[in-house]
Amino acid sequence: MATLKVLNYGDPVLRKDAEKVLKVSAKIQKLVSDMFDTMYAYNGVGLAAPQVGELKRIFVLDCSTDEEPMPRMVFINPVIIKKESAIISREGCLSFPGVYTDVKRYESVTVRYMDLKGKTQTMTAIGGTLLCRAIQHELDHLNGVLFVDHVIDRFSADQLLAEHHLPPIDPDKILVEPELDEALSGVAL
Ligand code: ZN
Repeated sequence: MATLKVLNYGDPVLRKDAEKVLKVSAKIQKLVSDMFDTMYAYNGVGLAAPQVGELKRIFVLDCSTDEEPMPRMVFINPVIIKKESAIISREGCLSFPGVYTDVKRYESVTVRYMDLKGKTQTMTAIGGTLLCRAIQHELDHLNGVLFVDHVIDRFSADQLLAEHHLPPIDPDKILVEPELDEALSGVAL
């Protein structure tokens, strides 16, 4: 078992693009195993490789709850191939210890990815579930995007970041999301 160091917001590595995995080598398998150990050690639901300083297109998830156990999952080279509707959800991130804020997400996504055996898989997550939101959150990490880039209330989020001794939101990184805004316009806040 190996627990890796999770990089905090402010580390420039978190803003970089991760590279595609060409082969699920023994080294990649070891990284995935260490990522699970790290995610569980930090009581996280998901962890992306850049968060442990590895710029590889990999993330791991375990969205189990007491009521609903789910298998742990590995997503390699994931791509969202379909996305629909929008929701506002409260999120946190292991790279932002103690910070939770409301962000915009798609309510349904279909993701294509490679599993640990190198096989292509497709998964659809609907209804704005934790799984659905976590897929979007973790996939963002592979593109140097962080959950605060989808923020609803920048002022409150900045206050929280300051309280937790983290840098403020970078206004240049806030995403322009007309599709999400349009879908949200019919949603009661
Ligand atoms: Zn995160």
